[in-house]
Amino acid sequence: MSLINKDFRHNAEQARHPALRWLVFGLGSVVLGAVIASTSAVYRKTETPVSEALLQQTKTSTSNSIAAREPPQSRIARQSFKLSLPELQAQQQILDEINHSAPRQWQEFVVKSGDSLARLFQRAGIRPQQLDEMMKSGDAVKKLRKIFPKDTIRILSDDAGNLQALRYEVNHQTYLLVERDDQNRLSAALHKYTIETRQKYAQGVIDSSLFEAAYTAGISDSTIMELAGIFGWDIDFVLDIRKGDSFTLLYEELYRNGEKIADGNILAAEFINDKKVYRAVRYQKPDAKTAAYYSPEGNSMRKAFLRTPVNFTRISSRFSTGRYHPILHRLRSHKGVDYAAARGTPVRAAGDGKIVYKGVKGGYGRVVIIQHGSKYSTLYAHLNSYDRHIRLGKKVKQGQNIGYVGSSGLATGPHLHYEFRVNGVHRNPLTVPLPTAQPVDKQLLADFMQKTRPMLAQLDLLTRTQLAFNQ
Ligand SMILES: [Zn+2]
Repeated sequence: MSLINKDFRHNAEQARHPALRWLVFGLGSVVLGAVIASTSAVYRKTETPVSEALLQQTKTSTSNSIAAREPPQSRIARQSFKLSLPELQAQQQILDEINHSAPRQWQEFVVKSGDSLARLFQRAGIRPQQLDEMMKSGDAVKKLRKIFPKDTIRILSDDAGNLQALRYEVNHQTYLLVERDDQNRLSAALHKYTIETRQKYAQGVIDSSLFEAAYTAGISDSTIMELAGIFGWDIDFVLDIRKGDSFTLLYEELYRNGEKIADGNILAAEFINDKKVYRAVRYQKPDAKTAAYYSPEGNSMRKAFLRTPVNFTRISSRFSTGRYHPILHRLRSHKGVDYAAARGTPVRAAGDGKIVYKGVKGGYGRVVIIQHGSKYSTLYAHLNSYDRHIRLGKKVKQGQNIGYVGSSGLATGPHLHYEFRVNGVHRNPLTVPLPTAQPVDKQLLADFMQKTRPMLAQLDLLTRTQLAFNQ
């Protein structure tokens, strides 16, 4: 039953080969990069600067010039899925026969970079005025303001260049249909597909890389990225991954008409890193719009602070207190961590908070200080420049860009000097225990336990199976 590839254990002893470790490191960096990307994508969703920018752009432009944009990170994981053209055409044939109308053909258009609806209509041979009419056909049509390259739009028109129908797959579960009604008016509506979810599980042992193990276990890249995102607060997927680490996950697969269309959510997962067991389970609070991942006890997997606020190349100086300097003959301490990174690398707010300082501060150069509640504060020094959205006294969200790596002040090269203070006392950012974000409220704990118990019981069963298999 297990999906673990037995070969993983055959070459167990070549684990410490340096080349392999570099491979792990290299691939791990990809994971971290993507984890950061997906983290920022989450912030885009809550902060919505991207969609706001899109909306603003469309507000100031006419509907004819709505252009397709490069997809934001969050869309990368999107798998293409749609009703096939022959399926659609078969439906149309039936409709045309029922209505005794001449058979009509759907045309399919794939959106290209820089494309606009106006251009698509032109390619489809539809009169330009029809676009204005369509954009007034109802709220649902707003979905067409965010079309992306590689999206597919199906168009049904008549010989006179009149739009009869338009169909656009918004996501796996929803499609937009614009149709001409009995009064010859276009009306737009969103429709839902019936999606069936099936539970699946997978297990893997890491030999050379997380991705290889995921591939062998038959898990999609988007699912393994999700897994790395869930445990990324506790496990550094660049530095901490060891050969022999393993994972078990229970997840959903989405089906339509008996055909698999995509991987769904991870329901429960276990990751064993360096013999330490981490577990997470998905739970949606009754009043929440989205689900989140929690430990079986109901603590959030998310931490209130990012461990590292920058995508660094190496740690160039560590935290130290009261070290006696042999040449200068005095005590010198380094009350933060220096992360070497290329000039211009974005620096992110480690946690939700308020900007309490933004300016030049002696040898620190350009500095930002963020206060997080009454207990914590973080400092970011030697910045090349500030993000243009941050202002003194303004709130920032975790992961939000606050500035860019530089070498302002007393710095030999571009790096971020990062300090973490608890009740005004400097602590080592690399080792300070980080508070978790929003645990399940006490009054919801019973609901949490009841809903997550079945998933955790299955996870127990799976990991026990794995144990039996290993013996
Ligand atoms: Zn420093």
